[in-house]
Amino acid sequence: MRFAAMKPKSAIVVGAGFAGLSAALELGRAGVQVTVLEALSSAGGRAQRRTENGYTFDLGPTLIVMTDVLKRTLGDESFARLALSRIEPGYEIRWPDGQRFALHSDIALLVAEFARFEGPMRASHALRYLADVHEAFTDAQSRILERDHTVASFLRTIITPGRMRPWIFGNLRAFTQRYFTHPRTVEALTFQSLYLGTSPLRAPALYALLPVSEAVGGVWYAPGGTGAIVAACVDACKQLGVRFVFNARVDRIDATNKGVSIFADDERYDADAVVVTADREPAMRQLFGAQAPPRERRMRYGHSAAVWYVGVRRAIDLPHHTVFLPQNPWQAYAALDAGRQLDDPMVYVCNPRVSDATVAPAGHSALLVLTPVPNRSNGPELDTHALRERVLQRLEREVGPLRDAIAVERFRGPKEFAEELGLLHGAAFGPDHTLDQMTAFRPSIAHPHYRNVVFAGSGTRPGSGVPMVLISGRLAAQRLLQ
Ligand SMILES: Cc1cc2nc3c(=O)[nH]c(=O)nc-3n(C[C@H](O)[C@H](O)[C@H](O)COP(=O)(O)OP(=O)(O)OC[C@H]3O[C@@H](n4cnc5c(N)ncnc54)[C@H](O)[C@@H]3O)c2cc1C
Repeated sequence: MRFAAMKPKSAIVVGAGFAGLSAALELGRAGVQVTVLEALSSAGGRAQRRTENGYTFDLGPTLIVMTDVLKRTLGDESFARLALSRIEPGYEIRWPDGQRFALHSDIALLVAEFARFEGPMRASHALRYLADVHEAFTDAQSRILERDHTVASFLRTIITPGRMRPWIFGNLRAFTQRYFTHPRTVEALTFQSLYLGTSPLRAPALYALLPVSEAVGGVWYAPGGTGAIVAACVDACKQLGVRFVFNARVDRIDATNKGVSIFADDERYDADAVVVTADREPAMRQLFGAQAPPRERRMRYGHSAAVWYVGVRRAIDLPHHTVFLPQNPWQAYAALDAGRQLDDPMVYVCNPRVSDATVAPAGHSALLVLTPVPNRSNGPELDTHALRERVLQRLEREVGPLRDAIAVERFRGPKEFAEELGLLHGAAFGPDHTLDQMTAFRPSIAHPHYRNVVFAGSGTRPGSGVPMVLISGRLAAQRLLQ
């Protein structure tokens, strides 16, 4: 098959989430005429921001990490204007029996925190853990995450010269236990794979990079929340002449190696190339129809999330980010992996009022309350009522009575993620991040037949989370520009 070898003059990006915005920026900077077609009425995708009765919520990402990737995407000036501030401690972890662990980004404080659990004699283990993981993470970022590997190049990367191998093949829990003996320390450093929808029981050791990047690189907040980061990306796109068309749901893509025709709500858009950031697997089937490869590998999807956005008529006394772990998290992860709702749920609460007074009326709070749940292929439809009750009980044990103070409440779960954002099985974080579905084993950003059709977002490489999809948008654009 012959491929068009020239740089595209025009490109369409399907989807204005972070992956689409990143691809549009990269293409716009290269002088490509870019049009972004977005089904929703505004940009952001999973990272929408909503205000209701004076309470403002980021609907998706709230933990902003790996800001070097964001800086690379936005450029120095736009990034500086965001005026990100570092949250210290990044978050607090609490267990039902009252024990707490603060993930400080001040390393001395963090090591002291480890010593509270592990004993002062083992503080050196904590330092070695931080140094080892950070070093491997820096390697992994440049050599694995920021590359669009083939299976062969991926295997070459991890097999030589040896440093990365234990990272890839080990199990996250076993790896963490090499450095720490106290069960609570291990619990505090492993739940983070759930950010990617992957159970800590099945996550590869590589994902130790999540807590370490939070501790070393920091957890950040932009005044105006994650919505302000989306807005900065849209502004930067517009400065490059990128055109946005909202309420434009793409329902068909006809591709040849010379160009693409894209159909959205009875309008036709022609361009030299397209970046598709809709969830890859359903997009391939639904948008390309007969042009979809017949035997695309079916992926296993990760856990999803049940999320409540709650405006409360009082100031909730919680840090910006708090994770409430169950008494026995490993039992909870096993139940989740078996497709069951949790009796003793793990709950994450974002309380941005403590960093940003504009998110709620004075003396009030705007909370995001999230608990992991199986996706729709893994278990029965969510019993939202029962789950809400358990989550509320857990929260009220910590912050006192809440129900009577609730002024606004909205909910999003797997059903809403499927219906509103087109996410397969309602899986909020896309395909699972297990060893067999990582990097080169994840669906490629390339279309197998058309060089001018590429994919980006959490359904492709390198994976889920804002920094990862920013990288995927950039890789997809670069592939078109090669
Ligand atoms: C509740 C929640 C909490 C999260 N928390 C964090 C966090 O704290 N930190 C973090 O880093 N990550 C977090 N994530 C993950 C992060 O939000 C995602 O990985 C990232 O935002 C995905 O971006 P994307 O551009 O790939 O996809 P999306 O944001 O889903 O964007 C895809 C866009 O494509 C549009 N689209 C789809 N189909 C079509 C079509 N046919 N035509 C036109 N448009 C279409 C959609 O409307 C959507 O706007 C969270 C996710 C969720 C759901």
